[in-house]
Amino acid sequence: MAGEQEVILSGIRPTGQLHYGNYFGAIRDFVRLQEAGHYCYYFIADYHALTTITEKEDFFRQTLDMLRTYVACGLDPRKSLIYRQSDLPCTAELTLLLGMVTNIGHLERGTTYKDKLSKLAETPGAEGNPLSYGLLGYPVLMAADILIVRADKVPVGDDQRQHVEMAMDIAQKFNHRFGEVLKVPAPVSREALRLPGLDGAAKMGKSEHNALDLLDDPETVLRKIKAVQTTTDPLPLDVESDDPDVVSPRMPTTVGVLYRLLSLLAPEDVYSDFLGKYRRGEKFYNTLKTTLAQYVSAFNAPIIERFNDPAHSDDFVMDFLRENARKVTPVALATVEACREAMGIGRALFRA
Ligand code: ATP
Ligand code: MG
Repeated sequence: MAGEQEVILSGIRPTGQLHYGNYFGAIRDFVRLQEAGHYCYYFIADYHALTTITEKEDFFRQTLDMLRTYVACGLDPRKSLIYRQSDLPCTAELTLLLGMVTNIGHLERGTTYKDKLSKLAETPGAEGNPLSYGLLGYPVLMAADILIVRADKVPVGDDQRQHVEMAMDIAQKFNHRFGEVLKVPAPVSREALRLPGLDGAAKMGKSEHNALDLLDDPETVLRKIKAVQTTTDPLPLDVESDDPDVVSPRMPTTVGVLYRLLSLLAPEDVYSDFLGKYRRGEKFYNTLKTTLAQYVSAFNAPIIERFNDPAHSDDFVMDFLRENARKVTPVALATVEACREAMGIGRALFRA
């Protein structure tokens, strides 16, 4: 039981390899919170992965690999409760119940949904709205994930801030209508990071094919970084600040992401040195790329080594997944039953 400890929850979809956005937007905080002694639930969101599925994928295989990467990044299944979303099928039941207090208009204003819809509008021949009910309902499922374990805080990257706010709103509406049953989580910290893609897109993403991955070997790292577009000469910077949050958005987008990564990985003097070159308009992109590639590979090396450690095999992952599903189920069922009672249908008469 969590008792007086602060309850943390966060999830990641098994849609590909973990990348630098996932690490600096989420996993780094997961490890910090775990080490600070909070009660942490970290799950692999395989139901969520289905909301954008286009053809059959092996989500189970990807889940195992992702969990081995979690462990390699410092998440410890003895300290944190790491589980798989679909091993808690009552999450789907809570999603259904929460759907009754969620307006469609609110969901239609969701940024992920709106982005997908606007991309479709640009696709020739697309008619009507072919997006799924599951995709529109993504924030309700995410609210169920958070509320089912009575989480206090949800450490996520900036791209997920709006979804956490929707969960807060859904919990408040439920409590207002049916009584104080659900714990309303705290908002996402203002410092949450959003790392752009190597192609300059606003967000690096597993499904965007624009990511630098934690398991990339040195050759792949160099190839990906060399391919980042740096044809635009340095633009004059109209600020004195060296803060990467301030300067990188003022650079050509693809150059900005190189600086953002350098600021996260290299010592401060290396970052300042390259920023000085930028301000002076020197020709330096080649050295910037090779230097950055070295820092990235050095960061990845121990993660790759721990990922391949035989002690972190699939069997090891399966064992803790089973054990943790057993631990989290009673906590989750207690919330679902409390919601059923509050809504007037009463407790389930039998559960397998
Ligand atoms: P997909 O493209 O399949 O949605 P993703 O890369 O967006 O994958 P998610 O599993 O959706 O990853 O998100 C996992 C966590 O990583 C979330 O907390 C999310 O906020 C964070 N995250 C994802 N991309 C970034 C990014 N570019 N910058 C910062 N945080 C990110
Ligand atoms: Mg995502």
